[in-house]
Amino acid sequence: MPGQPHRVTLIPGDGVGPEVVRAARRIIEAAGVAIAWEEAEAGAAVFRRGDTSGVPRETRESIERTRTVLKGPLETPVGFGEKSANVTLRKLFETYANVRPARELPGVPTRYAGEGIDLVIVRENIEDLYAGIEHMQTPDVAQCLKVISRKGSEKVIRYAFELARREGRGRVTCATKANIMKLTEGLFKRVFEAIAPEYAADGIAADHLIIDNVAHQLAKNPAQFDVVVTTNLNGDIISDLASGLVGGLGFAPSGNYGDGVAIFEAVHGSAPKYAGKDVINPTALILSSIMMLRHLGETTAADRIEDAILVTLEEGKVMTADLARQAGGDVEHAASTSGFTDEVIANLGRQPGTVRSRSARPAEVGAAGAPVPAGAGAPPPVPHVRWTYGPDAASAVERRTIGVDLFLESWEAPETAGPALEALAGEALRLEMISTRGTMVYPPTGISPDAVGLLRARFVARAAGAEVADAEVLALLGRVAERFRWTHLEKLHVFAGEPGFTKAQGQ
Ligand code: NAP
Repeated sequence: MPGQPHRVTLIPGDGVGPEVVRAARRIIEAAGVAIAWEEAEAGAAVFRRGDTSGVPRETRESIERTRTVLKGPLETPVGFGEKSANVTLRKLFETYANVRPARELPGVPTRYAGEGIDLVIVRENIEDLYAGIEHMQTPDVAQCLKVISRKGSEKVIRYAFELARREGRGRVTCATKANIMKLTEGLFKRVFEAIAPEYAADGIAADHLIIDNVAHQLAKNPAQFDVVVTTNLNGDIISDLASGLVGGLGFAPSGNYGDGVAIFEAVHGSAPKYAGKDVINPTALILSSIMMLRHLGETTAADRIEDAILVTLEEGKVMTADLARQAGGDVEHAASTSGFTDEVIANLGRQPGTVRSRSARPAEVGAAGAPVPAGAGAPPPVPHVRWTYGPDAASAVERRTIGVDLFLESWEAPETAGPALEALAGEALRLEMISTRGTMVYPPTGISPDAVGLLRARFVARAAGAEVADAEVLALLGRVAERFRWTHLEKLHVFAGEPGFTKAQGQ
C-alpha cells in the first residue's frame, strides 16, 4: 500500500557495528525513506547469555516478518567456540547469493585509480567448506567436508546472470579450482556451462578462469572483470582482495540475497580496537544500505544517497582517518564517524562532478514467475529463478555402487597393512589400493609419503565393474573392524556411466 513504511530488521551488532549502523540509519531517514525499524540482537551479547546460536528467537521472528535486514558486524571467536552468528543468519534464511561490488570511488586513492574498476563478486553463500561439517578423524587428522550441490550452484549462478542482465553488465566469469577438485569445483563449473548459453541472447559473455589466475588477474588488470561468480571460500577471499583494490574494507558493501529475504552488511568485521571511538569509516555500511534501498524499490533515494557519498568523497573536505591515511591527509584532525555522516547528509541533493551513481533496478520476477510489486510497503523483490534440478531429475540418473573406500586410523606401514587388508577383502571384493592424504602407497609405487595415522583402503568388486551390495560392504566393515580402527566410509558410485569418485594421486 502506498505510504506504508518498509519494515526492516536492524541489527546494530558488535564492536563498531552500532556506530556504522547509526550512520546509515540517519542518512536513510534524512533522505526521506519511511522505514519501520525493528531493532534486534545477534552476536557476542547473545553468546554471552548462553544462546549458542548467537541469533535469538526474537531476531529470527523479526526477520520472518520483515524479510529485510540491515546489520552491523558480529564477533566470532576464531579457531574455537560457537559457530559464526553471521553464517548462521545467512543459512537460516537461505541467502544463497552474497553480492560484493567493488567500484572505483572518487577521492579514494588506490594503485588502480583511473582504471575504472566496477566489478561484482557473486559468492555462493551456503555450501562448500562453509557448510561447516568438520570432524577429527583421528586425534591428529581433521577433515572438513566440501559440499557442492547442483541446485545450490544453479541458484547462485542464475543469480549472477540475472544481476548482469539487470545491471546491463556484459560478462560473467566463473572462477573455480576445477582443475584440482574435479567433482566439487568441477560440478560448479559444469552447471555454469549449462546455464550460460541461456543468457547469450542477452549479450552476456561467459567464461571460466581458474581461481588462482583470477587472483593474479585482479592484481594485474582488475578493470577487465565485470561479474565474477564463484564458490564460497574462493568468493570470500577474492571479494576481500577486490575490496583492497578500491580502497579497503571501509568502502566494501555487501548484500546476502535469498528467495524473498535479503541481509545487507559491510564486508568488514567489528574492528574492536575502534569500538565506541566514533572514528570508523561508515561508508561500507552506507553503501550496503544503498543496496538495500534498491532491493526495496527505493531507487530514487538510493541514487540520491549514492550521489551524496560520491560528492563527499570527490570533494575530500571531510575524511575519516583511514581515508586520510591513504590520501596522505591530516590523520590527527580526521573526521569522526558522525562528522562524516553529517557531511553526507548535507550533500543530499547534490550531483557528483566526475562519476554517476550506479542505478540498478530490483529484480522483477518472483521465484514462481509471478510479478512482484515494487515500491513502499511492497514485499521485497526476489531474483528470477527457474530450477532445472531437483529430486525428479536426480532419481532418473542411472547409478551403480561398485565399491567402497574405508578410512582407517592406522600408522601401520603399507607393506603390512596392504596384505592384511587383502586377506580381509573376502570373495566378492578385492583391495584396489591404499592411499594416505590422497597419494597411493599400496600397491607400492616407489614413493613413500609421510604417514599421518590415517589410511584409505579402496575395495571394489572382484568381477570388474560389478555392482557391490550393501550386505557385502557391511560384512567387509565387520571383518576389517576386527583388525583396524575404522573412522568412516564412502561408497563408490557410478552415475550415468561417470565415476562419482576420483583416483588417488599416482593411481
Ligand atoms: P575487521 O573487524 O574487519 O578489522 C580489520 C581491520 O580492517 C581493522 O583493524 C581496520 O584496519 C580495517 N577496518 C575494518 N573496518 C573498517 C572501517 N569501517 N573503516 C576503516 N577501516 C576498517 O576484521 P577482524 O579484526 O579480523 O575481525 C574482528 C571481528 O569481526 C571478528 O570477531 C570477526 O569474526 C568479525 N567479523 C565479522 C564479520 C561480519 O559480521 N560480517 C565480517 C568479518 C569479521 P586498521 O587496523 O589498518 O585501521
